[in-house]
Amino acid sequence: MADVAGTESTPVAAAIGLDVGGGAVKAGTVVLTAGGTLTGTAVTGTTLPGGAGPAMEAAETRIEHQVESDGNALSALCAAIARDQYSGLRSRWPGLPVVWGVSAAAWIDPHSGRSVFSPHLGGWRNRALPQDLSRALADLTGLPLAPGGSREHASGTAPVPSVINDADAAAWAEARLASTAAGPDRMVLVAIGTGIGGALVRDGAVDIGEHGMAGEFGHMTMDPSGPLCPCGNTGCWELLVSADALAARAGRTSARATIDDALDGDRACRDAVACTGRWLGRGLATLAAVLDPVRFVIGGGVAAAGELLLGPAREELARHLPGGRRRPMPSVSVATLGNQSGWVGAAGVALERAGWPVRALSTGSGPHWRGSPPPGTRPAP
Ligand SMILES: [Zn+2]
Repeated sequence: MADVAGTESTPVAAAIGLDVGGGAVKAGTVVLTAGGTLTGTAVTGTTLPGGAGPAMEAAETRIEHQVESDGNALSALCAAIARDQYSGLRSRWPGLPVVWGVSAAAWIDPHSGRSVFSPHLGGWRNRALPQDLSRALADLTGLPLAPGGSREHASGTAPVPSVINDADAAAWAEARLASTAAGPDRMVLVAIGTGIGGALVRDGAVDIGEHGMAGEFGHMTMDPSGPLCPCGNTGCWELLVSADALAARAGRTSARATIDDALDGDRACRDAVACTGRWLGRGLATLAAVLDPVRFVIGGGVAAAGELLLGPAREELARHLPGGRRRPMPSVSVATLGNQSGWVGAAGVALERAGWPVRALSTGSGPHWRGSPPPGTRPAP
């Protein structure tokens, strides 16, 4: 447990967050103050959507397909990213305890952190990820493993990361830290990227299910005669709503290109986004029937389409919501933390698991550091 003596703005710990999805790893660092406020550390002038900030900007590293299917290579890549983030934190915040957290597009055993299965990260199926990752960091740095599987970075050792599901991390961040965090309510997060990640939040806590596998909404069957999914079923929801599905509908090379062109007014791309939105809404109606949430929060890269996606989704949700006119409609909005919520959540959960409560995300300037180097010093590249 951390010593939280000192003023509210005194830094007490730092965390590295890595968000490992199909196609890319996003990584960033945060510093936690004694008052429980998280703030970003890479001062770039970029603020999060919704006005939260400052500078919660993650570096993004593309993952080659052969690395996704090679677990050792994927762990080594993550270790290399973590090492770079560590050296940046070390030079700017010498002596501050550091933990690291990894969120992964995989079904994670809540007790051990082992990945049970992953449709998109073939190399990370059935692996003891916390041990894999700390060993990869030890191999890379020549440091010994942290004694007793310690999560905290004791000087001169390779600590064990906290590992959680990526959608659970994003939901934790949206429920606890986003500007729209609504206190105790019932929220469903749907994150649309390579696949669909999902999570249910009740009273501020992510409900991960009995085996850590709740919220795999992307693999609800929407069309039993549809195409084969990497999960082993056919016609899963994510095959109709994912980034690839959107790009294929528009005949573009990527979802990002499709969304950019749709926002610029391209008719075919707008139609593809609207069609994807209708499939999204159809699935939300099923989720509402089962879970009865107050609100849906839509995250992931595809959410960048904003109202072009959400408008058709709401219409379809209203059309198919069982008992539609006689019950309250759940709201549907875009995730406030956008694409950053996965790594921010991984870092925040890692801090909490190591005994540092996280209460809020800074909306002002960063924490004031009383030692050397002076405030404003940029982290080492
Ligand atoms: Zn599936």
